[in-house]
Amino acid sequence: MMARILLLIILIVLLYVIGKRFMAFLNAKEQQNHAATKVKDENIVQCQLCGTHIPESESTLLDEKIVCKQQPCKH
Ligand SMILES: [Zn+2]
Repeated sequence: MMARILLLIILIVLLYVIGKRFMAFLNAKEQQNHAATKVKDENIVQCQLCGTHIPESESTLLDEKIVCKQQPCKH
C-alpha cells in the first residue's frame, strides 16, 4: 500500500515537471510567433500616389512623399 502511494507521488511529480517544461516550450514558441508578427506589422506606410498600404521596406521617398518602391505604381 505504501509503495503504491509512493509510486503515485513520483508519477505526479514527474507529470508536474514534464508539464512545466512543456509550458515553457509553448511560451517560447508563442514569443517567437509574437516576434515574427511584430516584424511583419512593423512600419506599414501608405503610398501617397496610389494609397496602397505597404511595408516601409517596399517604399521609397519621391519629392518627400512616401511612394511605392517600384515606380510608376503597379497598383
Ligand atoms: Zn503606389
